[in-house]
Amino acid sequence: MEIDGFRGQLITADHADYDTARAVWNGAVDRRPRLIARCGGTADVAAAVRFARDHDLEIAVRGGGHNVAGTAVCDDGIGIDLSGMRAVWVDPAGRTARVQGGALWGDVDHETQAHGLATTGGIVSHTGVAGLTLGGGIGFLMRRHGLAVDNLLAAEVVTAEGSIVRASADEHPDLFWALRGGGGNFGVVTTFQFTLHPVGPSVMAGPVFWAADDTTDVLRFYRDFVSEAPDELGTVIRLGTVPPLTVIPEDLHWRPAIAVACCHAGAVEDGERAVRALRRLGTPLVDLLAPSPYAAFQGALNDTVPHGWHYYWKATNLAGLTDDVIAVIADHAYTAGSPRSYAAMFHMGGVVARVPHEATAYAGRDVAHTMSIDGVWLPDESGEHAAAETAWARRFLQALQPHRAGVYVNFLDSDDDTSRVREAYGDHIYRRLAEVKAKYDPDNAFHHNKNIRPG
Ligand SMILES: Cc1cc2nc3c(=O)[nH]c(=O)nc-3n(C[C@H](O)[C@H](O)[C@H](O)COP(=O)(O)OP(=O)(O)OC[C@H]3O[C@@H](n4cnc5c(N)ncnc54)[C@H](O)[C@@H]3O)c2cc1C
Repeated sequence: MEIDGFRGQLITADHADYDTARAVWNGAVDRRPRLIARCGGTADVAAAVRFARDHDLEIAVRGGGHNVAGTAVCDDGIGIDLSGMRAVWVDPAGRTARVQGGALWGDVDHETQAHGLATTGGIVSHTGVAGLTLGGGIGFLMRRHGLAVDNLLAAEVVTAEGSIVRASADEHPDLFWALRGGGGNFGVVTTFQFTLHPVGPSVMAGPVFWAADDTTDVLRFYRDFVSEAPDELGTVIRLGTVPPLTVIPEDLHWRPAIAVACCHAGAVEDGERAVRALRRLGTPLVDLLAPSPYAAFQGALNDTVPHGWHYYWKATNLAGLTDDVIAVIADHAYTAGSPRSYAAMFHMGGVVARVPHEATAYAGRDVAHTMSIDGVWLPDESGEHAAAETAWARRFLQALQPHRAGVYVNFLDSDDDTSRVREAYGDHIYRRLAEVKAKYDPDNAFHHNKNIRPG
């Protein structure tokens, strides 16, 4: 098989790399595309899109391959795979970076931190820049420096027709607005341009763990603690067990526990002050807060969510941590069957809430916390495990039903239907996105995603 004007690698079912190339982060996803077009650059992406359109092929686009729903790979169609396009070019004087569409956050942190700079990315460094950014992009730096989309200056995009355009505040501003939260609906982004900020390289960062029995006390304290926290302090709660990381004493591994992971984006002394009260709360099982290289901290959780395990997620935003919400969390967080299952809760606010809500297509600026309930089981565990972890995540979400305040689109799984995509955006933003979709992709060629229907 050949694609006109394509110089990358074409991988079909008879190729030795086929099974590796079609695998995504979530090992529960098992799809068999007819063809994977591993692109070497923008011209290859444009050629692959035109080929797909000419042959009426289903299209899936792969950035980091990390989405839990596995939308980076489809059955029978073509996978437009940017995993070979991971370059990052930093302009230290202008404090910007250009990042190719297949880069991972670890690539960005590595290059930008060489200059003492960073931009908001995810909290696991093997996550892709593309999918994460296009859905909004939350992370430890967001309260100080905004979401990933708030730092996006421009994008090079291959449209559904296979043409190459640049989207920015001045060029295709409607497309630029939609790309900042609307997901992969509007074209294939081959290059992102981000603004950078001085961060670290050493920052006060790390998790503190308490026994699961302390959950109610920790969350009640945390509610007040974060309401007064400086913008520099980003925190994520993790409820589950203590992961078996080498930095944690072995006798604590797999013990049910609540953790508050912190990263302070300012001077280490200020960070020490900002986390002092938290460290004094009760009797922690272990306190790993310390001055750490920012880039290394960004990879600290990587081994707790490796590629190839099986995952099932349910997600919701929360307007606040009321006593009722805390009670639901304490009741459900530790009832999963697998010690690998967990829930994660990002504290929002700060700059995220202060960016004008109309500025981008990201809809969750008002929410206090963004939560993801993550069922996890091993590839060789039986169907019973899958059923149990899936049921746990659903039960937990169901119990939070009265407190739900929208959902982050990047945390939706494959069984979250179109009503949940609408929930992620709300009616107003969804309608505006549908109009942009009708202009740039009227045939909905890019629909293997959290789909916005042209309208
Ligand atoms: C362990 C883990 C940790 C996470 N942590 C965070 C976090 O801290 N913050 C956060 O905001 N999110 C986080 N996420 C969610 C993450 O944002 C999504 O999974 C996101 O889709 C990952 O992007 P990707 O490029 O790796 O995805 P992929 O699976 O490659 O792509 C997902 C979808 O994005 C679109 N897409 C991908 N690449 C392109 C491109 N170049 N051009 C156009 N469209 C494209 C396509 O529609 C594709 O179907 C996390 C996910 C996991 C699994």
